[in-house]
Amino acid sequence: MSLPEKIDPTGRYFINEALDITDPALLQSISSPRDYLVASLTDLVAACPPTLPWSGSFAKGQLYCGIFAGPTSVAFLFLWLSKLYPDILIEGKSPSDYCTEYLNLGQDKYGPEETQRSGCSLNHEYMCYNAVKACHTKDLSYVHKFIGNLDKLTLRPTFIEVLFGKAGLLSLMRTIRYWVPESKDFLDPEIDKTIEYCLSYDPWTFGLHANNQSRYIGAGHGDISIISNIVMSNPDYAPKVQGRLEIILNLQTKEGSWLSREDGGSDLVQWCHGAPGIIWCLIPIRRYFPELHEKIDEAVSKARRVIWEKGLLTKEQCLCHGITGNAFALAEPQRSHFLQYATPEAVRAGLADGILEKSSDNCGVWWSEAGRAWGWMMLEYEKTGLGDSLVDIGYPGATNP
Ligand SMILES: [Zn+2]
Repeated sequence: MSLPEKIDPTGRYFINEALDITDPALLQSISSPRDYLVASLTDLVAACPPTLPWSGSFAKGQLYCGIFAGPTSVAFLFLWLSKLYPDILIEGKSPSDYCTEYLNLGQDKYGPEETQRSGCSLNHEYMCYNAVKACHTKDLSYVHKFIGNLDKLTLRPTFIEVLFGKAGLLSLMRTIRYWVPESKDFLDPEIDKTIEYCLSYDPWTFGLHANNQSRYIGAGHGDISIISNIVMSNPDYAPKVQGRLEIILNLQTKEGSWLSREDGGSDLVQWCHGAPGIIWCLIPIRRYFPELHEKIDEAVSKARRVIWEKGLLTKEQCLCHGITGNAFALAEPQRSHFLQYATPEAVRAGLADGILEKSSDNCGVWWSEAGRAWGWMMLEYEKTGLGDSLVDIGYPGATNP
């Protein structure tokens, strides 16, 4: 399916040709996501094979960035595939084989210290490598390496958000606990300590420079994913963040979106900033806020109207700011309708004729092919009736169970 022809004058999104269609039978549906999953994985291992020199294009392949970008990011996708679809073979190798290989590409050169640009969590290679390695091997020595480094991550004490800050550490600890259940006794006290640390800051701000801090609210750097990580890691803390959650819900615009910052900012429709990320974060924590059910449901349905209208982005399809991530903020059949524009053919054609803005990454799970494969994995999970993929799988590194 080729991309829609008309682009909005802002250049940000394709005009959704199905905007006013209400009969689900008239929307495109995807019958075999698994074929797209296999095609996407085949493209992935061809563009960035598990060999050195590393051919990832983010930072010219010179810098590994944990789950955000680099081989550990790709390994994280294969880790999940090794659980959900262990029998899929790509070029004769299983997801578990690939997970092993992508974790063996010189990650040991990355030390435990926090650097000016590493942050302490999802972008920190050492922390992510040890987390994913622990999950894949079930070897507790990696859990202990991870835990042993927690108190040393002190360079950026004000980083609370998910990509560089403490909320990302909560996510990594939750992931280890999920995959290696016997680590629970070691991790739970660290999780509570980290939650208390997050709660000691108010308001949460983010900015790479100390004198340029913003009050972001979206999933990429803002309050919503801090809240969801606190609650998903220990639901007992839900009452302590309910007030903050209500503030976010009240910031929804009349149209149904959220601006990037509490005091204004950009009106973006993507996972990192705006309504799609907020939906991704709200759905897994909804059950912990019984008093807010009505408010959350209203916010989600209002937000979905904006995403349906403005969410077919002209950026290369990805989870963080693209059609794949936006699709999962919608319900079916709109979700599948969006995803038909994120197939390997649609990506190739859109990049070849220059209507898509090419990503600066060519493989990772947030910005590129591994993220598109992640989406096909989620759709396959849904279509085979296994459950709600936003709750059971989630956004890589940010809202996994
Ligand atoms: Zn983004």
